[in-house]
Amino acid sequence: MTTNHELFARARQLMPGGVNSPVRAFKSVGGEPFFTARADGAWLWDVEGKRYIDYVGSWGPMIVGHNHPAVREAVERAVRDGLSFGTPCPAEITMAETIVTLVPSVDSVRMVNSGTEATMSAIRVARGATGRSKIVKFEGCYHGHGDSFLVKAGSGALTFGVPTSPGVPKAAADLTLTLPYNDLDAARALFAEHGKDIAGLIIEPVAGNMNCIPPDDGYLQALRTLCTEHGALLIFDEVMTGFRVALGGAQAHYGITPDLTCFGKIIGGGMPVGAYGGRRELMEQVAPAGPIYQAGTLSGNPVAMAAGLAMLRLIQAPGFHDDLTARTERLTDGIAAAATKRGIPFSVNRVGAMFGLFFTNQTVRSYAQATAADVAAFNRFFHGMLEHGVYLAPSAFEAGFVSSAHSDAVLDETIAAADAVFARL
Ligand code: PMP
Repeated sequence: MTTNHELFARARQLMPGGVNSPVRAFKSVGGEPFFTARADGAWLWDVEGKRYIDYVGSWGPMIVGHNHPAVREAVERAVRDGLSFGTPCPAEITMAETIVTLVPSVDSVRMVNSGTEATMSAIRVARGATGRSKIVKFEGCYHGHGDSFLVKAGSGALTFGVPTSPGVPKAAADLTLTLPYNDLDAARALFAEHGKDIAGLIIEPVAGNMNCIPPDDGYLQALRTLCTEHGALLIFDEVMTGFRVALGGAQAHYGITPDLTCFGKIIGGGMPVGAYGGRRELMEQVAPAGPIYQAGTLSGNPVAMAAGLAMLRLIQAPGFHDDLTARTERLTDGIAAAATKRGIPFSVNRVGAMFGLFFTNQTVRSYAQATAADVAAFNRFFHGMLEHGVYLAPSAFEAGFVSSAHSDAVLDETIAAADAVFARL
């Protein structure tokens, strides 16, 4: 039998850190990753045959569970007609119609191949359409690995950002201004000083890359107003929240109309997909309709469209999101009650089927609070849960996801595992 350990040793000889995306290497939680052999419903099986209840769901897209027959069959049907055409195909139109119907702020949409491409393209549209160059983002929000986003606040100043990765030019970072999430006064001050230079403000409407942090009441609306007053575009990065926190995404959940929206993984049902879209007058400026260039050889791939469409059809079933929210509540209430019973400082955030677990007795509403929670305790909890056959995101700073395949029995098994792990913490 091949073991996870053997595979990781081989992988490390061949790929940086042994992985194709950093978080998979378990650096943040310590130890070594398992290698998945197959996935079905709420579960993953590793190459050693061990089964895990999965709360990562390929980082969001598996909202109907892994290997759903309707999605798999749609892919199998599409594959019979060819893998990629490099010409327009009808499924792209159905996909665009579906997105435009479900997300009212989007009149027109462009398919891409990842969330990173979606956000990079959206800020190009913001810059192209406004003729301005500065972008505002939030500390702790992740928008993929584009140069403009690998930036944190410079010390003491609101003005210039500094790169968080070698290879990001200072000149690019200078154009990104960084704000603390859920701090409206800071946003007002920034716009007062730089408003006329700001092309767009990009935000995860529910932050999912600093664990899970919902926006304060009225916060997104106030950002909407600020952007409008200053002629900047409001860009929602709904790569995680889209079609998950509600059928129409976070913008439907909170009743906000952004100018542009980025989508990712979830609209591919597990295939590599992203998209960005928004008001017609903005999207009409994208090539070839307009001068703002953006392209993709594999964009709108027929197999990816088939997978995404099959999944988007499933999640439109009446009550789908209410049911998913109820499942998420059952899970997080159960885990929180187990922690309380054991006297462990613990708090939970959740919006729809997105959740965050924090080892702190505070309600977490900011990046500073998220980073102040007990990360070492989370890491011990993570490994304890893994031993009990429950796979949580391998970092204290990632949101968790529940799917419709997480039955009550699966959720209760998870809560029992958490109780056992808390007892040992
Ligand atoms: N935006 C958000 C909110 C994300 O969570 C991610 C990925 N986790 C991205 C953008 C980037 O997407 P991708 O990894 O598909 O490039």
